[in-house]
Amino acid sequence: MKEGTPLAYHSVLAWIYENQFKNENDKLIEFTDHRFLLQPYHDDHPDQVIMKSAQIGWSMLAVLKSIHLAAYKGLNIIYSLPTQNAMKDFVEPKVDAMIRNNQALREILKSDRQNLKRYNDRYIYYRGAFGEREAITISADLLIQDELDRSDQKILGIYRSRLQASEYGWMWRFSNPSVSNFGVHELWLNSDMHRWIIQCTGCKKWQTLTWEDSIDKKKEIYICSSCGKELTNEERIRGKWRAFNPGAKRRGYHVSQLMAPWVSASKICEQFREESPEFFYNFVLGEPYTVADLTIDRSALIKCLAPGKVPMDDMCLGVDNGVTKHWVLGNKHGVIRYGKTDSWDEIERIIKHYNCYTLIDANPYPNVPKELAEKYPHKVFIHYYIQDRKGLSTVRKMTKQDRGVIHSDRTKILDFLAGEITSGKLKFVMTDRELEEMIYHCSNVYRTLETNSQQIQKGVWLTKENKPDHYYHALCYWRIILEETLTPSGVVVRPNEPQKRSNAIVVEDDKISAGFDLREIARKAGKVQKDWRSI
Ligand SMILES: [Zn+2]
Repeated sequence: MKEGTPLAYHSVLAWIYENQFKNENDKLIEFTDHRFLLQPYHDDHPDQVIMKSAQIGWSMLAVLKSIHLAAYKGLNIIYSLPTQNAMKDFVEPKVDAMIRNNQALREILKSDRQNLKRYNDRYIYYRGAFGEREAITISADLLIQDELDRSDQKILGIYRSRLQASEYGWMWRFSNPSVSNFGVHELWLNSDMHRWIIQCTGCKKWQTLTWEDSIDKKKEIYICSSCGKELTNEERIRGKWRAFNPGAKRRGYHVSQLMAPWVSASKICEQFREESPEFFYNFVLGEPYTVADLTIDRSALIKCLAPGKVPMDDMCLGVDNGVTKHWVLGNKHGVIRYGKTDSWDEIERIIKHYNCYTLIDANPYPNVPKELAEKYPHKVFIHYYIQDRKGLSTVRKMTKQDRGVIHSDRTKILDFLAGEITSGKLKFVMTDRELEEMIYHCSNVYRTLETNSQQIQKGVWLTKENKPDHYYHALCYWRIILEETLTPSGVVVRPNEPQKRSNAIVVEDDKISAGFDLREIARKAGKVQKDWRSI
């Protein structure tokens, strides 16, 4: 029996070492790679906020620290998660698995229900922050709010009121951040802001690790932000926590995958390429991400102009549904033509003429698009926007029973498209005059933040009242189908790295892309392919 060992009463780390704790996968818990977790494990500050990435071992820490406090410090604890399902996904595979794998936990577990467990004399209530009725019936000494940013903020407030009777009144809040100045990020800004700093063995400078300065994107290695030397895993491991806002009453830690030695720089780069910007910042870097009030203005689109001749092979078509159908045609070299028609026959003619992969918006008139998808299997697909998917990829293909249908997360995919335009990655193989209507439609959409019923802010794309936005959506469908045909993964990546594209585009005058003197571009473009709209 380890229960009576005095050490366990003093230190959670001694308790873990003494009992050779194993994690939920039955592997011994170690602090060599997880060295950055030693101080947070040891930290019993009553008011803690942790702004964190995914996959860095925090769940394990939360499970063990909470059980240790209940069993050996005599605290009743509420452990809240966003929903009932999130609670199940936490208790079954993590808490219950830990208990199964560790004799020392089984010995102190005196009563075991899924959402209420007694460890020695105290309770941990595992709760989904979903109902007011449930929230007001229990009180606690420590409130742990996990996934704070994704929980109902009103219910969390009720839970907080349940601490008042306690002589402790401790509150620990963890979350992957969402947007700036909200939830965990807002709390973090009012904390003592502990960041992990590491020392370069070359220039001896201590530094935090950042995506911008600590990764060489070409070589995909970690580098010293000061002298550029490659950083070894050992250098990243041997860091220390430093408070950047010392003296604040609240304890804060920022934890990112950059400090995890088992996450390579190329893994970080891969996630940057394959995930949405929100996911990358929130879940990989553990930082908030906000593109509020973004618009796509004329100058951004003009920068995407790349007039010239390109091969017309592997063509893709995006079609915005409506009485008038707006279409965008192009291939990996960029958008080559776009136009509109009132006739589905005309759309089918384009599909046949170019033998193009086609994505058609299903709404508001789904019949003909569905017929076309059936008539041209594996070639023509229909599309639905979906909202607020917690899916990790921007676009996902449906499984077999939904063949011919592509769903995409509206905000994410439109963010992605806007990002490609504002960064100049997407190309329009045409002149500025030819781009004019596209500019008009794109300038009618804008991104803003909306607050949902759970008081959580989310990005949303809106259209100026009574203004057309059809080409922007047609462009989006074109971009999705282009991706679907190019990569086997079905995941939108940031495509066509600049160096590749410059090899691929056939431009008569190779100086075109440098500046963007409009008249100059138009003059050069005028030399080639005047008939781009005549199909
Ligand atoms: Zn250095």
